Amino acid sequence: MPLAKTEPRAIWRQGWLWPALHEPSPNCGPRPPGTAIDLALVHSISLPPGRFGTDAVRQLFTNTLDPDAHPYFERLRGLEVSAHFFIRRNGALWQFVSADERAWHAGKSRFQGRDNCNDYAVGIELEGLEGETFEPPQYRTLAWLCRALQARYPVRHITGHEHVAPGRKHDPGAGFSWSRLAHDLADSGLRIETRVQP
Ligand SMILES: [Zn+2]
Repeated sequence: MPLAKTEPRAIWRQGWLWPALHEPSPNCGPRPPGTAIDLALVHSISLPPGRFGTDAVRQLFTNTLDPDAHPYFERLRGLEVSAHFFIRRNGALWQFVSADERAWHAGKSRFQGRDNCNDYAVGIELEGLEGETFEPPQYRTLAWLCRALQARYPVRHITGHEHVAPGRKHDPGAGFSWSRLAHDLADSGLRIETRVQP
């Protein structure tokens, strides 16, 4: 991969990844003892939906979003959620929760017969809107992140929120190219799983 020479080296300390930008969220807790962190779970979010470049996702994930700042935010009042990672449209990588910890991003979910994906998954939000496309720098950062996770944790699978919570969740949506991600990770051994989980 020609870009590899210019990509930054991943450094992990207690589940925090450098050179991600760190914005610690309280919306997390311990993983069940002995849990193997084996799943990367891809989401999409933008706040308000379809508006990119705002500070509202960071605010939501750190419980500092003003519910009165936009009509849409009212429905988010009191919500305590956060993914581990957030990838902005320009590919910038933010981290909210140590990957050693259990972040609150998946809700009721199931992967390969196991409930509660939050227990064993790393949650990755892409700044975007369900049904719309994502930017090339986001794919590059996502692939880099997946490899960094694989180097530190026993991550083997990558799937989408829509696949582990079918009917209830629809992100990252049809505009996300799983084949592109699979191409970017072709030599990694990571498995892209886009079957809806029963
Ligand atoms: Zn989601």
